[in-house]
Amino acid sequence: MENYKIGTKCLQAGYSPKNGEPRQIPIYQSTTFKYDTSEDMGKLFDLEASGYFYSRLQNPTNDCVAARIAALEGGSAAMLTSSGQAASFYSIFNIASCGDHIVSSSAIYGGTYNLFAVTMKRMGIEFTFVKPDCSDEELEKAFRPNTKAVFGETIANPALDVLDIEKFANAAHAHGVPLIIDNTFATPINCRPFEWGADIVTHSTTKYMDGHASGVGGCIVDSGKFDWTKYPDKFPGLCTPDDSYHGVTYTERFGLEGAYITKATAQLMRDFGSIQSPQNAYLVGLGLESLELRMKRHCENAQAVAEYVKNHEKIEWVRYCGLPEDKYYELGRKYLPNGSCGVISFGVKGGRKAAETFMKNLKLASIETHVADSKTCCLHPASATHRQMNDDELRAAGVSPDLIRFSCGIEDKDDIIADIEQALESI
Ligand SMILES: *Cc1c(COP(=O)(O)O)cnc(C)c1O
Repeated sequence: MENYKIGTKCLQAGYSPKNGEPRQIPIYQSTTFKYDTSEDMGKLFDLEASGYFYSRLQNPTNDCVAARIAALEGGSAAMLTSSGQAASFYSIFNIASCGDHIVSSSAIYGGTYNLFAVTMKRMGIEFTFVKPDCSDEELEKAFRPNTKAVFGETIANPALDVLDIEKFANAAHAHGVPLIIDNTFATPINCRPFEWGADIVTHSTTKYMDGHASGVGGCIVDSGKFDWTKYPDKFPGLCTPDDSYHGVTYTERFGLEGAYITKATAQLMRDFGSIQSPQNAYLVGLGLESLELRMKRHCENAQAVAEYVKNHEKIEWVRYCGLPEDKYYELGRKYLPNGSCGVISFGVKGGRKAAETFMKNLKLASIETHVADSKTCCLHPASATHRQMNDDELRAAGVSPDLIRFSCGIEDKDDIIADIEQALESI
């Protein structure tokens, strides 16, 4: 499978049926798995044999889909989680605990920001946030002796900043810690962060991977390249015996390719749950089959919409890295040469009031908190997710009162543009 192009891997990686087996990935709708002897099962519990015993930790449907995503990202191992939030949490909690510190880009999904700045802080893990376009010195100053990872988003939701992945990877590696990248918006079709030095990738599969607004889910992929054993003091969980698994040392038993994901499965899934349901995993697998086709169309539509609105007299500004005048055009050309994603943002003249009128008059595009879906949807944060804030507070949060997040679907672009046109006329 390794030598095939990514569009082929979307359909065939992760599952190869043998003679007479189902063509499509089967849904193993089973909580548990049967064994002939207690001894057989005991080996699984000791991590001496691989196999399934309880779907809170692992399920064969999930593993096929996770293997497909690992193949798309070029990683060594992956696991599915019940949501993108669970993936972000596990990706860090697998290597950090109370008393540790993380450096994160400030241009990240609002839910992730809250998880880091409020909830994980309560667990004793501190975060320092840096602007994605900070100087090398500012980035350097954010590190502490107890820093355990660096985190960022390839394309930030909803700010649409493009991260300089190489810069962040170099800084992380200079301090002996991995770079974790949330690659939800770009998907592995448009960017594979491992090729730029990232070590771990996370996804909200809820978005483009599922693609059809049918299931919430997440994924964590390990590149298998970060050498934890060079820093045993920083990563004792991976480099010293785990008493809760009869003293297994994950890096020794599973190598660099398997240690991180095995630990996350054996400890975090065992203790916290939050595994994706096999039914939802099946839907993600189905969505992945058309991911390459869909991403092309999303990008084509977003480019056309961005070019249309940028010349419209009722539009104040537009953000999309596919526009040559965009602040992130050059980084986009480097990291996203074939397209970025289907999400653009723009401001309508007349501020909050005009934005509300515009939204109310859209007919094809629906108002949703969802984003990155095959059907066009949009959100006006000032009157929805951020409605409790006044204009000054909104600006401080990096969201202008007139900002509209517009997620271009895969409908015909002429219809999407016509919808925007008639809604703008209503203002
Ligand atoms: C939606 C989203 C998340 C959270 O994912 P859920 O599946 O909603 O939990 C994380 N990161 C990004 C970039 C997202 O867009």
